[in-house]
Amino acid sequence: MSHMFIPGPVDVAPEVMQAMTKPMIPHRSKEFNELFRHTEARLKKVFYTESRVFQPPATGSGMQEASIRNLVQKDMLSCVNGAFGERWYSVAIGNGKQADRLEATWGNIHTPDMLAEALKAKHYEAVTIVHNETSTGVENPLKELATVVHEVSPDTLILVDAVSSLGGVKIETDAWGIDFILTSSQKCFALPPGMSFAAVSDRALKKAESVDNRGWYFDLLLFEKHRIKNSTAMTPAIALINGLDAQLDRILAEGLENRFARHLAMAERVRAWGLEHDMPNLAPLEYCSKTVSTLQNKPGIDIPALNQFLKTRGMCIANGYGDLKNKTFRIAHMGETQMSDIDTLLEAFDDFLQKK
Ligand SMILES: *Cc1c(COP(=O)(O)O)cnc(C)c1O
Repeated sequence: MSHMFIPGPVDVAPEVMQAMTKPMIPHRSKEFNELFRHTEARLKKVFYTESRVFQPPATGSGMQEASIRNLVQKDMLSCVNGAFGERWYSVAIGNGKQADRLEATWGNIHTPDMLAEALKAKHYEAVTIVHNETSTGVENPLKELATVVHEVSPDTLILVDAVSSLGGVKIETDAWGIDFILTSSQKCFALPPGMSFAAVSDRALKKAESVDNRGWYFDLLLFEKHRIKNSTAMTPAIALINGLDAQLDRILAEGLENRFARHLAMAERVRAWGLEHDMPNLAPLEYCSKTVSTLQNKPGIDIPALNQFLKTRGMCIANGYGDLKNKTFRIAHMGETQMSDIDTLLEAFDDFLQKK
């Protein structure tokens, strides 16, 4: 049963927790190489890619940094319509890149037209897009945005943060021509925090060869040099990889399409409940996130008091992010959360509202 309806970390299945208690093995060993090969082979399925998926010991933000350091020499475009687009922009500036912002108001999407216009006005080496803005519950139209980049500026690399959607929503990395796409372990993958996964295209790796100051820890060429030997440059997060190994079995046993359908059904359930209670999603209807619902707190519910109440039943939700705190709140429905968990949560929510 799921207890935490927050957008990461999420509850981890008991058998996955169990897998992480296995004894350590040397990371320079055939046994580890086989584990690494096997996890990568299945990660490729979840990412819909034939190229490669790295699995380094760093959270998603680390991979945001890796993408900037490796794939941008100077000019890039940052799509910002929420807290995580803002973070990626800060990462770019912090690494000395010339990042222009393409803004949409929080709660709205980036439209393909907006992006086309920006790409026509100036040439960029790369554009960063957050697929699922966890702060606002908006799902940007990634496939359409990628199409526009390919049409208007074919050599611009497409970098995607799918931290709160990949594994819960179908994202066709190769078919959509995405060059770099990152996610974290503690969201739709339902693992503990501490590792990330990133698929990288051949042309992105080629580009990295010409970029100065890639650093060492996040050097994708160093990642690749070791990956082809089913290994890593630094000590891998062995316990987490054991958890990943077990969780990938569970994910593929459920079936990816079934998993995506489950996430969508939970999102629709929460959306309908919100509408009944005068708490519509912040996002426009057709761009509501499938993994986290950001609902407008029109009735002015005391969110901390709500969470105090939910705690007595072993549950919690997330308040709004930043300026959206108390004006909105968020119910995550990702990872291993089932419809029955959502029913239990919404029942408790209704009980709270009746008590007032
Ligand atoms: C959670 C989140 C991040 C940050 O990931 P960490 O693993 O905490 O570094 C980045 N982007 C999005 C969209 C997120 O939801």
